[in-house]
Amino acid sequence: MRKRKKAAAAMAIAAMMVLALGSGCQKKYEQIELSNAGSGIGEDPGQGGEAFEGGQADGSFGQETDLAGPETEGRAETSIREQNMVGQPAPVFKDVDETVYVSGDSVNLRASASTGSQVVAVFKKGEKLRRTGYGDEWSRVQYEGMTCYIASRYVSAAVLEPEAGTAQGQPEAGAAGDVAFNSSWKYGEFSKINSGTAKLYRAEEGSRKGITVCVNAGHGTSGGSSVKTLCHPDGTPKVTGGTTGAGATSAVAVSGGMIFSDGTAEAKVTLAMAKKLKEKLLAAGYDVLMIRESDDVQLDNVARTVIANNCADCHIALHWDSTENNKGAFYMSVPNVSSYRNMEPVKSNWEKHNALGECLVAGLRSAGVKIFSNGSMEMDLTQTSFSTVPSIDIELGDKASDHSDGTLDTLAAGLLAGVNQYFGQ
Ligand SMILES: [Zn+2]
Repeated sequence: MRKRKKAAAAMAIAAMMVLALGSGCQKKYEQIELSNAGSGIGEDPGQGGEAFEGGQADGSFGQETDLAGPETEGRAETSIREQNMVGQPAPVFKDVDETVYVSGDSVNLRASASTGSQVVAVFKKGEKLRRTGYGDEWSRVQYEGMTCYIASRYVSAAVLEPEAGTAQGQPEAGAAGDVAFNSSWKYGEFSKINSGTAKLYRAEEGSRKGITVCVNAGHGTSGGSSVKTLCHPDGTPKVTGGTTGAGATSAVAVSGGMIFSDGTAEAKVTLAMAKKLKEKLLAAGYDVLMIRESDDVQLDNVARTVIANNCADCHIALHWDSTENNKGAFYMSVPNVSSYRNMEPVKSNWEKHNALGECLVAGLRSAGVKIFSNGSMEMDLTQTSFSTVPSIDIELGDKASDHSDGTLDTLAAGLLAGVNQYFGQ
């Protein structure tokens, strides 16, 4: 968000115009949140007090800012406008009350419904506004308690992928919103596959806890095994064996997963498990960030982890192990290797990872799930190596384990009990 220095004056103009139109400031609307990381409201754009959005200092306009800049206000524009209008000329507005998201990269918010009017603020893609009036050309919106105008074709009622964080992409209660990977997030540069999107679900308002659980259905990234990512952010080698041996500095971005003894792919079962867990968590009032909801999501293990770091309060990756003796469930604990536990972000988070794992195993045990050994196995995982929120790879059984619908229900109940225990719910 960039805002013109002269916004106050613009607001005064807007207020006068609104009064002239007889609609007044509609204070009943909540304060609209416009702040975005690194670009706070009121920030001086540093260009002589003027914010330019792909436009020029001489006042001409960029391609994607408004209905039409002075130089593009021509016949072609008019004919498009006429096709769209069909007897509903601006500034006639249909009264609405809805959240809209900016769909252009830099879009002007204006004091009145005219490209010649004062620019009050410039909005980035994904930012949201409360729309109170819809017209073919212009939408009437609320901004800091005032009525302003924005080109209708650059706003959408659909939730768009946020540019940073989840603030702009969070859906209404009960609905889902896409969460895109952001390469500027910490450790984001270590991801190689990240064009996919996770999905954030909100619990119903009445029961909402304000805690987001990232549910990561293990595997399921087409092409993921032919790309490699660093095991550790500092480039040091793995300290334990596993799918990738100890000593390796890079590992497959996402492995294919194992095949159960009955021929079922692990990735199918982790997906079914994730969907069951999502429903249970939502019903209990948790918001849920689903990393994968189909057979393929183009997010590698680093991307999944970084998304969870930024958009969730904990991260649970669902897996089944590749042994074949139905040994029971356990979590991958943080190896007790000093070099590993002293490497950030492991150093600051490993105790939380293990605590979450202990809670999940306790929850599974309480649901009657068979537990392997003491319930944990030390493992140096990419997930753990990049996690900044409590983060666990839980192995819910192995190749020989039953994965029927009823068993998955039991496992989901156990995991929910563990999540409740971890968050003191
Ligand atoms: Zn697995």
